Amino acid sequence: MFLESKASRSKSRGWIEVICGSMFSGKTEELLRRIRRATFANQKVELFKPAVDVRYDENDVVSHDSTSMVSTPVQNSSEILLYVNMESVEVVGIDEVQFFDEGIVDVCNKLADSGIRVIVAGLDMDFLRNPFGPMPGLLASAEYVSKVHAICTHCGDLAQYSHRLVSNDRQVLLGEKDSYEPLCRHCYNEMIKQRENSKNE
Ligand code: ZN
Repeated sequence: MFLESKASRSKSRGWIEVICGSMFSGKTEELLRRIRRATFANQKVELFKPAVDVRYDENDVVSHDSTSMVSTPVQNSSEILLYVNMESVEVVGIDEVQFFDEGIVDVCNKLADSGIRVIVAGLDMDFLRNPFGPMPGLLASAEYVSKVHAICTHCGDLAQYSHRLVSNDRQVLLGEKDSYEPLCRHCYNEMIKQRENSKNE
């Protein structure tokens, strides 16, 4: 389990934490857990999410287990810098960070450079197993990376892939359990094989 360092603005030392994994892996729960603990420590926290993600609520970050916290939806990465008060904020959390433009890497570095603890959560791969948007840059820039896993719905092993159940080729398709299932490497490959075979029949 990830153990937080003591965050103190007096030392003016910031850093970046990335929480990544497939859908249903508990990324948002882990982000909210860390954010909540920072608020228990009376730290000033700001939470953001991309405006594209309005699956549950326009202004809250809501995880699959229905815990939620108030967050600010933003249209692009640079908007975050407009909202954050660099003088007073100690912790910045960003959910669904994979949906942001590449500029989010710079934004996270700027925040961390100015002494802020930055915690971001996002999908590391899309449904085709390709790295998702700005995630490679964020993973490379982070001091701490936590990869969390879902449970494979076919065999019960640890799952790292978000297998799309509906046929749609767009990279971004917001959805829930009706559109995606978490699968392990073995079961993912089996599904792809089955699909190829049924196409050829
Ligand atoms: Zn499996």
